[in-house]
Amino acid sequence: MTDARDADVVEETSMRTGLCGHLRAGDDGRRVRLCGWVARRREHGEHLAFVDLRDYTGIVQCVVDGSVDVRSEYVVAVTGTVRMRPADKRNEKLPTGDVEVGECEVEILSVAEPPPFAVDDRVDADEPVRLKNRYVDLRRPRMQANLRLRARVNSAIRAAMERQGFCEVETPLLWSPTPEGAREFAVPSRLHRGSFYVLPQSPQLAKQLLMVSGIDRYYQIAHCMRDEDLRADRQFEFIQLDMEASFVTQADVIGFVSSAVLDAAEAATGERPPPIESMTWAQALDRYGTDKPDLRLATELVDLTEAFAGTEVRAFAAPCLKALRVPGGGSLTRSRLDALVDRAKGLGAKGLAWFAVEGEPGALTLTSPLDRFLRDDERTALLARTGASAGDLVLVVADEHRRACTVLGTLRTETLGRPVSEGPYRYVWVVDFPLFEGLDEAGRPVPAHHPFTMPHPEDLARLETDPLSVRSQAYDLVLNGWELGSGSVRIHRVDVQRRVFEALGIADDEAEARFGFLLGAFRHGAPPHAGFAFGIDRLVAIFAGEDNIREVIAFPKTQSGADPLTGAPKPLAPGTLADLGIRVLPSPG
Ligand code: ASP
Repeated sequence: MTDARDADVVEETSMRTGLCGHLRAGDDGRRVRLCGWVARRREHGEHLAFVDLRDYTGIVQCVVDGSVDVRSEYVVAVTGTVRMRPADKRNEKLPTGDVEVGECEVEILSVAEPPPFAVDDRVDADEPVRLKNRYVDLRRPRMQANLRLRARVNSAIRAAMERQGFCEVETPLLWSPTPEGAREFAVPSRLHRGSFYVLPQSPQLAKQLLMVSGIDRYYQIAHCMRDEDLRADRQFEFIQLDMEASFVTQADVIGFVSSAVLDAAEAATGERPPPIESMTWAQALDRYGTDKPDLRLATELVDLTEAFAGTEVRAFAAPCLKALRVPGGGSLTRSRLDALVDRAKGLGAKGLAWFAVEGEPGALTLTSPLDRFLRDDERTALLARTGASAGDLVLVVADEHRRACTVLGTLRTETLGRPVSEGPYRYVWVVDFPLFEGLDEAGRPVPAHHPFTMPHPEDLARLETDPLSVRSQAYDLVLNGWELGSGSVRIHRVDVQRRVFEALGIADDEAEARFGFLLGAFRHGAPPHAGFAFGIDRLVAIFAGEDNIREVIAFPKTQSGADPLTGAPKPLAPGTLADLGIRVLPSPG
């Protein structure tokens, strides 16, 4: 619950004098009227009853002379006088534990059925039950704290954006397809039968239009909707800090967003993190095997290609040899090692070599089926490059560079990974992403971002001749291995846009059909612009010490996308379907 009172907030209303959790020894003798929920009632013989009264600030003990007919979760108003508890009855665990409210009169404002689970952080009810009764679940101190933390983060972000001259503009939820690439939710139109709105995956196109409109610096705490499989860090509907600015470079955007994120971190945790470091996508891949590096894990991938150039080990004959030290991994059992090998193969590697390190500093030995094939200089290089010491394990993958890195990068997080919310908070900007992810079956480049992402100016000339080598001006912000958000400098020039569409195989008429309104706007004077968006649910979950964003969302969906509270999604009444001109087919199978 809230720890500190806000000095500026007048607690008194027409119905109460103040809040339960704020009473202290200094209130001794004060006549109070408090309102809240009955957390617990205990009878002490016939003549005394204790009612623990709860509101969002905490619990205070109220003493009633005589009996009182209230049950858990009844809503009551209690009038009484604050007094010190006898010294041996003080409760150190309760912030209000030095005092109680005596000589209480209790007025029942609303009765309640027995709660589906105890409103207590120590009681862990099943999630479907919690979500079905979310209004009760949210009364728990942990959930109250999470939602209030979220509000503090939102408010710090808003303040940071306003301070930097950003103007809040709301954009429509009933919209047209946006280019983020996920499956979209469609909303049937009653007035235009057979036509559909699309719920925006982000305000991407709207914010670019706002740049053409001269808004200059836009932001919004925006709802985004994507019909994707749900995970710990993903809901259909999520909230982003969405921003866009004109006449700026990538460095400016990174500066704006860093300020907002660091302010939010400070508001949430009380500590301002150090300036956020950055690395290129190529460095992230090479050192961590992923574009979402978790910098909390001390160990990095190292390159052994040169050291093993003339190796006799046949399994190491590959363009690239990468190694990863697993601290303390030397004690893994043979079956765990076999499982790692299988996992590496499952990830696409031809194999995985392992070396358990034993012995004393200066006289380290390797245990491995491959050890007898190693030359002395290779053994020395493997130990020196990885910095391995006794008790460690060294994993080696031989493959082309990208695969060797990604396989070891995945093993790095799987073997050493920690819950995302566990400190310290390690932010990193990853910049210079490739413009294309690879080639599709038809040999056409697959975009790594939406098609309005500006190529790196140094690489633009190679767009047609060597597209896979072209970097983009796209950047991600990563925290403890979770992608918080991404953004890019946008293409504002018609000639560059045409070349990128061409490289993507998007024909003129298709571009016109999908994004014609944006391209049309660009013909009316588009400023150079760039932007970013980051997920507030993810950021708050990490600050709240939660590993699932559902815990920081008031009314989330379950893993299967259902809402046990309202029953959504549910069938529409036949009349509504008829109005929309929709006939529902039976599910296939
Ligand atoms: N629209 C992008 C997203 O939601 C972010 C951006 O490029 O501004 O991921």
